[in-house]
Amino acid sequence: MTLTTDPLVATLIGIVGAANVLREDADTSPHLTDWRGRFCGRARGVVRPGTRAEVAAVVAACQQAGVPIVPQGGNTGLVGGATPDTSGDAVVLVLTRLNRILAVDAMNNTLSVEAGCTLAAVQEAAAAVGRLFPLSLAAEGSCTIGGNLATNAGGVHVLRYGNARELVLGLEAVLPDGRVLDSLRGLRKDNTGLDLKQLFIGSEGTLGIITAATLKLFPQPTASATLWLAFDTPSAAVHFFAKLQTRFGARLVAYELLSRRVLDLLFKHFPEARAPLPEAPWAVLAELVDGGDDAELRAAVEDFVGAASAGGEPGDAVVAHSDSQAKALWWLREHVPEAEKRESVAIKHDIAVPVSRVPEFLRLAGQTLPQRFPGVQILCFGHLGDGNLHFNLCHVDPAQNAAFLARQDEVNRVVFDLAAWLGGTISAEHGIGQLRRALLPTYKSPVEMVVMKAIKRTLDPHNLMNPGKLFLGEGA
Ligand SMILES: Cc1cc2nc3c(=O)[nH]c(=O)nc-3n(C[C@H](O)[C@H](O)[C@H](O)COP(=O)(O)OP(=O)(O)OC[C@H]3O[C@@H](n4cnc5c(N)ncnc54)[C@H](O)[C@@H]3O)c2cc1C
Repeated sequence: MTLTTDPLVATLIGIVGAANVLREDADTSPHLTDWRGRFCGRARGVVRPGTRAEVAAVVAACQQAGVPIVPQGGNTGLVGGATPDTSGDAVVLVLTRLNRILAVDAMNNTLSVEAGCTLAAVQEAAAAVGRLFPLSLAAEGSCTIGGNLATNAGGVHVLRYGNARELVLGLEAVLPDGRVLDSLRGLRKDNTGLDLKQLFIGSEGTLGIITAATLKLFPQPTASATLWLAFDTPSAAVHFFAKLQTRFGARLVAYELLSRRVLDLLFKHFPEARAPLPEAPWAVLAELVDGGDDAELRAAVEDFVGAASAGGEPGDAVVAHSDSQAKALWWLREHVPEAEKRESVAIKHDIAVPVSRVPEFLRLAGQTLPQRFPGVQILCFGHLGDGNLHFNLCHVDPAQNAAFLARQDEVNRVVFDLAAWLGGTISAEHGIGQLRRALLPTYKSPVEMVVMKAIKRTLDPHNLMNPGKLFLGEGA
């Protein structure tokens, strides 16, 4: 059926207007491929509603026609969750026109926004009233708050503020049958039964469309200290993390690990970038914030790090003395995903283990993988303070990468079995999407899978809401 003769498309045009039903390849293609270019699908059309009522009408029309819907925000997800399958049956529902700031209540420390607001716009709206919305990740200029909630995004400040799940007080969502679930409240206490909003957070668009959220705000820190630390081993980095946290408590907001190989890759693809310290096997980028002034905090941090460094741990350290120096350090961390993209790093993992077991994970993985897969290159970076590692792999010889990629199931098994054995997870923050759906039943308990599927079946009995994501096959 062509798009022009498709009665559903005519209905959708009636709801959102012809300009917001994209059908030409040039217009639809950015919505049919994921950020890494790994998943590519087809769709009946790409629909861009501009209001909650339009979202509800689009969903109801699709439900009536029995047509699947793929919700999409900024399309920065890394597991193929926002990409339709190749059948061409689905409608991609893009939320980016729902981008209004609905209400700011600085006294209540809350902000209500539509789901299509970019994360950067939400941060700016909070800053405009002297508050902080702490969710922060490298894709913040493009990703949307709806996508952040649907994936329960993490980022670099989870250590102090928690991930997306912990930053939400209220939520509004359109259910698969077109009804609106409205719990857009700004309450810190509300014990009136099940916390339904949490069902939608991390559900990857499989239970309904998030259309708005009420988010928690925090006091804007007035002082910050950013430091780059060098370590010989992950174990030394973990030990120093514990010491830094003991000394500075919740003022420590980020503790990010980067291996030497990751930095080498960064400098290869961004030759203009500069290493803050001479070579060391491991680096950590840490950030502390406080309510006082910069000089006081930086002096306290410098004293502490200086004394620790004299004892040998960290081997070397530098504290940024200006905001521009701090930004330059963060630039290095934020550009790692882009460097890996340019290098076409083949096999990626986003695992988490308890922080205390990170050194063991790295030691065992570092022994096992080269034995099983000679020539493997391990590129490890991530949120060490959360126990979350982006543990990515390619072959030292790019010509061998295709052959290496062909063994990815075996490779994944080694990495995931090890993480699970250490009490960890196969997906710390990116989610399951299409990329990990086949593996989920192996690493979730049977009872967890049964309960998740029962909830899916109850809300989406015809399996039309982002089918094939999170759950393999029918899902429901
Ligand atoms: C450079 C880079 C760095 C990144 N760093 C991090 C990081 O540090 N931490 C982290 O957690 N992630 C990170 N990500 C992944 C990505 O940015 C997050 O998953 C983000 O939350 C996705 O938001 P989005 O709007 O782009 O969602 P999309 O990619 O459009 O969608 C993601 C999933 O959410 C669903 N969805 C989207 N909007 C809605 C909605 N309104 N209602 C219901 N379902 C919806 C989609 O169907 C899909 O399953 C990074 C990505 C990139 C490219």
